[in-house]
This record gives sequence, structure tokens and C-alpha cells, in this order.
Amino acid sequence: MELKTDLFINGAWVKGDGLLPVYNPSTGEVIAQISTAGDAECAAAVTAAHNAQASWAKTAPRVRSEILRKAFELMTAEADQIARLVSMENGKVLADAKAEVTYAAEFFRWFAEEAVRTPGDFRHAPNGDKRILVTHQPIGVSLLITPWNFPAAMATRKLGPALAAGCTVIMKAASETPLTAIWIVDILQRAGVPAGVVNFIMPSKTGAMISKILHDDRVRNISFTGSTEVGRGLIRESADLVLRTSMELGGNAPFVVFDDADIDEAVKGAMIAKMRNGGAACTAANRFIVAAFVADEFTTKLSAAMSALKMADGLADGAQLGASVSVKERNKIAELVDASVAAGAKVHVGGVLPEGAGAFYPATVISVKKDNPILSQEVFGPVAPVVTFTTDDEAIALANDTEYGLISYVYSGDLKRAIRAAEALEAGMVAINRGVISDPAAPFGGVKQSGLGREGGFAGIHEFLETKYIGVEI
Ligand code: NAP
Repeated sequence: MELKTDLFINGAWVKGDGLLPVYNPSTGEVIAQISTAGDAECAAAVTAAHNAQASWAKTAPRVRSEILRKAFELMTAEADQIARLVSMENGKVLADAKAEVTYAAEFFRWFAEEAVRTPGDFRHAPNGDKRILVTHQPIGVSLLITPWNFPAAMATRKLGPALAAGCTVIMKAASETPLTAIWIVDILQRAGVPAGVVNFIMPSKTGAMISKILHDDRVRNISFTGSTEVGRGLIRESADLVLRTSMELGGNAPFVVFDDADIDEAVKGAMIAKMRNGGAACTAANRFIVAAFVADEFTTKLSAAMSALKMADGLADGAQLGASVSVKERNKIAELVDASVAAGAKVHVGGVLPEGAGAFYPATVISVKKDNPILSQEVFGPVAPVVTFTTDDEAIALANDTEYGLISYVYSGDLKRAIRAAEALEAGMVAINRGVISDPAAPFGGVKQSGLGREGGFAGIHEFLETKYIGVEI
């Protein structure tokens, strides 16, 4: 299929006020120039979404469901092409890109199934004076903003439930990775989404133009995935018109290994939890909190697995660790490691910037003390800091010592101990003896400063629905 590079407004591909280059971070080359939206295009997208809202909300759930199902089928059929595009604009290796596209398509399938299942309620009031009817209605025009690390999955995780619920949308992708999002919008058009229901913009001035959209009273909802810092600002902006907000923000996941864990399994899980997406995942294990008794064995085995990874262009044969999304992001990783080493971290493998083109950073394992600054930062790269503990309470306290609360990982041979830990961990999600638990059928989201709301599962569609109570005299 021909690569589209324009904005999509009211069912048509249109140009805007300029062009934005999209780079391949493995080579530094420009792979496309996409159109950017000026004030006029942003306003047109809101108008289109607003005008389409009433009829999309009235469209039979079965029709909405079948459009999403068709989108799932198209995405599955085009998975290889989309995966190559993801790898090219994001830098991740093709195997990770393929896994992402499969995961992303599943959100369309899951929400195709959810579209026809929104529950209602009919009850007798306890005092018998009336009947209580509870129904759920689409919240209305929704602004969807996605990050660069999962350009396919973060888009479908919002588009799926929004469209299933009957909301029209204005979508904005990260400026590093718009091409995948454009492909997905094109799939939705081909799947039969009516004009105005899905609109895609890339504002030329992100902050100012998004702020203007958030102050347009035709917009009722913002669903954002990205950094906690930007999320905080968007929550503040959303306060003016009291918008519904869903916020999937940063993480700083602890990976706790108790002394009774199967260490080989823990290392296998650590490699997935840390290295999926080259470490650029909000769910990435960021702090390895390991029982002192097994720490040497764990660190030695993890270092061996990390140093065996082949770092190369994401599309190269056998590549296992690709580039970061940009040299700027890569340099942030290097600065965090350098600061950690300056504060006393011991480097086991990696830790040195490679020479040459491309935003590469090597797989790195370091041992740190509890007060090392890297433990309080989201690293977003292939860096595994290991810190030790001696009691379960100490492990939990270390794990919870962060403003984030997205996901935690626990490895233990004793399920009771693992569940006790899971209950004590301040996180929206806990993985027990697994390196990945993301699933379109499960509620994804964080506590504390990792966010508000849940995506996926039965909860996901409710981020785009309002509850309405109708009291009936009998
Ligand atoms: P980011 O810098 O917050 O950007 C995310 C999106 O917000 C991009 O589309 C960006 O657009 C946009 N944006 C930036 N400033 C904005 C503003 N003032 N107003 C409106 N939109 C604005 O995050 P990122 O670097 O792309 O992604 C990495 C972060 O996302 C990490 O913290 C990661 O943990 C988090 N994340 C969380 C989840 C989750 O589910 N919890 C999933 C994936 C990633 P521009 O590109 O135009 O600046």
C-alpha cells in the first residue's frame, strides 16, 4: 500500500500548514515528510468530529462492532508491512514490532466484541417509590494523544474503545512516529468508518494547539498516553472545561526477586520485562530488587543474557536490540547511566556509548546502592540497575519508594508470598512469575502518578461512556 503522509479530516486526506520530517533512528535518514495541522485544520477536525458525533452515537452497536472487526482483519492482513513501518520510524527490532502489531490489532478485535456488550441496569428503588434505570451513553468528542514507544498499540488501545462506545475522535500521534498511526487511520477508513468519526491531526505547535482544542466546549474527553510531566499539564488544562480525562503515564517498575525464586526463570522474565521494545516501555522493569542471597547469581546470569544480545538496525537479520527513537532520547539514557556511575554504580556490562550513526545504546547491567539516583528515574532504555534487600518488608518498601505505580513484577517459588507482595505493592498491575502481562482483555493502568483510568478489559470502554440514571415513577 502507498504510504500516506497527510492529515485526515472529515473523511478526506488533506494537507496542512507545513511539513514534519520523520526519521529512521537506526540510520538518521529522513523516511517521510508528513503534513502538519495549523489552527484551521485543528478547528476543522473538531468541527468534523462534533458534526459526526450524534449519528455515530446512534449507529447500531453491531454496525460499529463490525467496522472494528473489519479493521482487525485488515490490520492482521497487513501486519508485516505495518511492523516494518513501526521498526523504521521507532527503531525497535522487527520481532518486537511484529509482536506489537499483533497486540495492537487485538484491541480492535476485543472492542469489536465489547461494542455489543455495554451493560445497563434495571432495579426497584429500595423504598419502592420508583424504578432505577441505569444506562451508558457515549461521552462525546474525544481527543486521543499517543506516545512514540508503541505507535500501533497505543493508537488502537484508544481508537478501539472510543469507536465501540460511539465516540468520534481527533487523534494526534507522537511527532517521532506518525506514520504507523496514519496507516491505522487509513485502515479504519477502509473498514467503513463514516466521514468525521475519525480525524487525524499533527499540530505544528503541539502545546498551544492542543490547549486550544481542550478549551473548545465541543470536546468532552481526553485520553492521553505519555509522560507524567505532560500528563500533569493536560490534567490542568482539562480542568477549565471539566473534561473527562484518562491518563496512562510514566512508570518505574520494580522487579522483585525473592530468595526462593527459580533464578533461571527470573532471568528469562527479566529479559522480557526489561528488553521488550529495547527497554522503551512504560511497563519496562526499571529497578531489579533482588534478595542478597541470590543477587550474585541473578546479576551474573542477567549480565550474560544481556551481553549476548545483537544490537543492530531493527530491520537487520538477527537484530535483538534496536535503536532508541532518537539521538536525544538515547543521550538521556547515557546521562542517567553516567550519573549513576558517578554516584557509585558498578557496571557489569554495557554502559558505554557506541560510535557511529544511529541512536544506539548497549544493553547495560549495573549494581547500585539504595540511594543511587537512577532508581528514582524512568530510564526508558536497555539499562538494568540491580539493588539488594534482606527482608520482604525491605523489598516492598524499596519497590514502593517511587511516585509511580504502573506495574510491578514479583518472582517467588511461594505463591502465598508472591500474592502477599502483590497486595502490598503500590501498582495498578502486578506480574507474578511472568515478564509480560499486557493483554487487551485485561485492565491496563496505574496508580499514584502513573495515571488515571484503565485501558483494555471490561473497563476500557467505560473511559468513553457516561453513566446516566433515569428514575421512573411507578
Ligand atoms: P511525551 O513526551 O509525554 O509525549 C506523548 C505525546 O504527548 C506525544 O504525542 C507528544 O507530542 C504529546 N505532547 C507533548 N507535549 C504536549 C503538550 N504540551 N500538550 C499536548 N500534547 C503534548 O511522552 P513520550 O516521550 O512520547 O513517551 C514516553 C512516555 O510515555 C514515558 O513516560 C512512558 O512511560 C509513557 N507511556 C505510558 C504508557 C502507559 O500506558 N502508562 C504507555 C506508553 C508510554 P509531540 O511528539 O508533538 O511532542
